[in-house]
Amino acid sequence: MNEFRADLHCHSTCSDGTFSPEELILHALEKGLTGLSITDHDSIQAYSTALAFAKEQQLALLSGVEFSTMFNEHSIHILGYSFSVDHPAILEFCEKHQQRRLQRNRLILQKLKENGMPLEESDLEHSSFQAGKQTIGRPHIALALLKKGYVSTFQEAFHLHIGEGKPSFVAGSSFSTEETIAIIHQANGYAVLAHPHLIEPQRLIKKLLELPFDGLEGYYARFAPQEQKRWVKIAQARNWLITGGSDFHGTIKPNNPLGGSWVRDDIFKLLYDRFLLNSSHSGSFL
Ligand code: AMP
Ligand code: ZN
Ligand code: FE
Ligand code: FE
Repeated sequence: MNEFRADLHCHSTCSDGTFSPEELILHALEKGLTGLSITDHDSIQAYSTALAFAKEQQLALLSGVEFSTMFNEHSIHILGYSFSVDHPAILEFCEKHQQRRLQRNRLILQKLKENGMPLEESDLEHSSFQAGKQTIGRPHIALALLKKGYVSTFQEAFHLHIGEGKPSFVAGSSFSTEETIAIIHQANGYAVLAHPHLIEPQRLIKKLLELPFDGLEGYYARFAPQEQKRWVKIAQARNWLITGGSDFHGTIKPNNPLGGSWVRDDIFKLLYDRFLLNSSHSGSFL
């Protein structure tokens, strides 16, 4: 029998991944995974179809999301798990993020136009501005710039135009890390600090670790063993969960294969049991 492995961090076409939720589920099975959480940026739209499909395919699918938050004016990603996908607090928060992103994307497009690179909203993949459920972010803008021939690679779009501090960058305002944790907790979910090693500047970590997180992402794509040890130690000292995942995005980030990082059954079961409990209260179909 295969060892139990669950990847708790990946993105679908409901945000900036290139695999649909159904394709992700099939890909997870191909990779020998037993459990999965789809953690789209600021959206849980994937779950509207993925839960029934995962059940059919006999893959344990856990609710998840990756929220973009602000902490001392820096961007911090927070993973949420185990909430019911019908919970109004999460659904309303995702809706607010879509509105926020719509405004921000329009400001970025305005800057790009001023800088000689006009794009239409309809040029952005999935063109779901009106739908308001799927997250359109800078990766979609980078792909559109590439498609129009304004840049020669996806990376170049960030390096020259829309990366932090570049001429067409707009930070936009987001919700605070504290508020985001509170909303995940309101939905009886777990709030987890995502890829802590990527946080810039690293001096923020000390203050972040004082917030009421339930866990941190201790296993991540291409983590050096030393790096992993550092975060496991920090989580253990706080009695926090240690989650893990690949941050798979499909073909736009080919270096992070699905299942490249994962958790064992003990952590998965803990998260999944809470998910089942929350979902039974909300009457969700599983
Ligand atoms: P957004 O949430 O719209 O600000 O977009 C942020 C996403 O853009 C991140 O999650 C990354 O996937 C991607 N991104 C940010 N900076 C870069 C970069 N320099 N190169 C490639 N992708 C980037
Ligand atoms: Zn992403
Ligand atoms: Fe992230
Ligand atoms: Fe991610």
